Amino acid sequence: MPTTARPGKIVCVGRNYAEHAKELGNEVPKAPLIFLKPPSAVIGDGEPIRLPAASQQVEFEGEIGVVVGKRLTRASEADARGAVRGLVAVNDVTARDLQKTDGQWTRAKGFDSFCPLGGIAEGAHDLAHLTVVTKVNGEERQRGFSAQMVFSIPMLLSYISNIMTLEPGDLVATGTPSGVGKLAPGDVVEVEIEGISRVSNPVIEGA
Ligand code: MG
Repeated sequence: MPTTARPGKIVCVGRNYAEHAKELGNEVPKAPLIFLKPPSAVIGDGEPIRLPAASQQVEFEGEIGVVVGKRLTRASEADARGAVRGLVAVNDVTARDLQKTDGQWTRAKGFDSFCPLGGIAEGAHDLAHLTVVTKVNGEERQRGFSAQMVFSIPMLLSYISNIMTLEPGDLVATGTPSGVGKLAPGDVVEVEIEGISRVSNPVIEGA
C-alpha cells in the first residue's frame, strides 16, 4: 500500500490548548512549545499504529496539521497565512510514560507508525474556525476548535520560521485539545478536521 507522502520535517506544538495543558498538570506555555517528529513515523489512512513493547501507555492526540506551500524564513503572520498549502488530519501518537521518564520527547513521539496523516485538503480554509474531532471505536473522545488555540496557526508558522526555515511540504501539527487517552490493541482511532481531512487507523501490538 502506498504510504502518505512524507513531509521533509514535522514540527509539532505542545500544550496549545489550555484545557489539555491542565489535564496533564502542565501550565500553558508563554511561547509556543515546539518539538520535532521524524518523517519516518508517518503512515496513511488504514495503516496500523503499532504499539511498541517499550511503552505501557500509548495515547492518541488528534490535531490540525498545516502543510506549508511556500518557503518561509522569518515570516510575518500575514505572509505565513498566505503560505498555507492545505490542511491535514494528524494523530500525534505519544508514548506518555516514556515522555515523562525521558524528559526529551524524541523517543515518546518518534516510533514508526506514530504519525498517521489524512489526505491533504488543499486550498484556502478559514483557519480561525476549524474543528478537530477524535473518535476511538466510533466514540467521540476529543473535540477542539482552532479558535481555542493558545497560539493561532499564522502565529505558529511565523514563530517557527524565525527558528528554522519552513520548506514546501513541511508539516506543522498545531497541538491537541483535551481528552487524550490510551490506545489498546484492537482499537480503531479516527481523527477528523471536520469536513476537511480524516485519518482512521487500527491499533496492533508492535512487530
Ligand atoms: Mg501533540
